[in-house]
Amino acid sequence: MTTTDSSAITIIGAGLAGCEAAWQLAERRIPVTLQEMKPEKFSPAHSSPDLAELVCSNSLRSDSPDHAAGLLKRELEQCGSLIMAAARQTSIPAGSALAVDRKAFSRRITEAVSSHPLISLVRAEAASLPITGTVVIATGPLTSAALTDALAELTGQQLYFYDATAPIVAADSINYDRCFWGNRYQPEGEGDYLNCPLDREQYQNLVAAIAAGDQVRAREFEDRKVFEGCMPIEAMVARGTETLAFGPLKPVGLTDPRTGTQPHAVVQLRRENREATMLNLVGFQTRLSFPWQEKVIHLIPGLENAVIYRYGTMHRNTFINAPQLLNRCFQHLREPRIFFAGQISGVEGYLESAASGLIVGTQLALLQKTGRFFPFPATCALGALSTHITNTHSKNFQPMNINFGLFPALEKKMKKAARKAAYAERALEDLNRWLRECPLRLPAED
Ligand SMILES: Cc1cc2nc3c(=O)[nH]c(=O)nc-3n(C[C@H](O)[C@H](O)[C@H](O)COP(=O)(O)OP(=O)(O)OC[C@H]3O[C@@H](n4cnc5c(N)ncnc54)[C@H](O)[C@@H]3O)c2cc1C
Repeated sequence: MTTTDSSAITIIGAGLAGCEAAWQLAERRIPVTLQEMKPEKFSPAHSSPDLAELVCSNSLRSDSPDHAAGLLKRELEQCGSLIMAAARQTSIPAGSALAVDRKAFSRRITEAVSSHPLISLVRAEAASLPITGTVVIATGPLTSAALTDALAELTGQQLYFYDATAPIVAADSINYDRCFWGNRYQPEGEGDYLNCPLDREQYQNLVAAIAAGDQVRAREFEDRKVFEGCMPIEAMVARGTETLAFGPLKPVGLTDPRTGTQPHAVVQLRRENREATMLNLVGFQTRLSFPWQEKVIHLIPGLENAVIYRYGTMHRNTFINAPQLLNRCFQHLREPRIFFAGQISGVEGYLESAASGLIVGTQLALLQKTGRFFPFPATCALGALSTHITNTHSKNFQPMNINFGLFPALEKKMKKAARKAAYAERALEDLNRWLRECPLRLPAED
């Protein structure tokens, strides 16, 4: 155990979340210790001694304001984000996406953080939690083993290591004329599952497409035994063409009300959130490439034009079951001196990790300076991330990218393009009101 001064703030992990959280605090004149294990120790995916390393793609996704990721960028910029400033300064042409020169990006952040007079950067692994003071845990999806054990003790839970996730689609992009609601072995009715029925030919085409899919090569450290319970669909297809029809796509107990017969196979979808704006494809976990997943999903009756909110992925991940442990400000419910930020808190992606760091840094600064939190509105992208990590509705909590399905529904029904614009407009209006009313000034205004 490491001991700290009781008023001190220690952030463990100087990735996207940790650097942003440290910056938000330091810029508000609150000293902070930022502890990073690199270069003493590297995770299997990190290789640079610089901070805020992008371990895979160099894209921060869409920069378009009517895309949820684009909206989140605008919000981060309005809130004085270090990560977004560095991304703009090091951007490279990438169409409507924001991509960066990854080395220059990390270098800029490293320079800003290490030269800040109120951030003391400590280069050492945290094998346990400081026993006093406020602690922000931002050690990411590849948190070191010793700290993972300490966190399992703190949370009283096994930290969630997932092997594979299933894709999630937008509820309003489904063609409901081709599918039906109903639970297995229950009389027709509303039911909890949306069933997409496939006849033999449709099933065979689907299986052929999955088999032909180009698997994303597992990294060495991910190449381990897959659990039978969450085997990727492509691994099941490799065992035989009918494996899926006897497994997650089994039709037993389901009668298509339009034909009165049992289909050859059924892809079931289940609500992912309370508002039922998102549905996940049950048992459809996959690590097929994203373009190939789209191709496969669009072969499923009813999902021909499905908008994919989250693609299936498969890699090691470390994250807490946030809805049971955290409040909207990413603070531990039972240990209020502990906060989580970044992927370990249950958000997904570079940008979302930075955003959660901004939320934690801002809220901690508010707590220190005013004695209370002033949470971001639920209607903006920053608030929607808080909604996700406190979503007790989902039985199988998984990290998730920002998407409009996480926002409170709009009052009026409208067409897709208008709806996206309306979400963005409402979000920016509400965030601006929050900024005007916030009792603590933004770093840039000081
Ligand atoms: C293989 C892989 C590929 C990914 N590809 C993408 C992608 O293409 N696009 C995308 O948006 N997201 C991707 N992600 C998710 C990505 O990791 C996160 O989006 C993002 O980097 C998480 O930010 P973070 O700040 O939470 O963690 P990180 O950026 O991982 O930062 C955590 C930091 O904590 C340090 N650390 C860990 N343990 C300790 C310890 N005990 N003591 C001190 N320091 C410690 C690490 O060295 C690291 O610097 C990928 C994740 C993985 C694992």
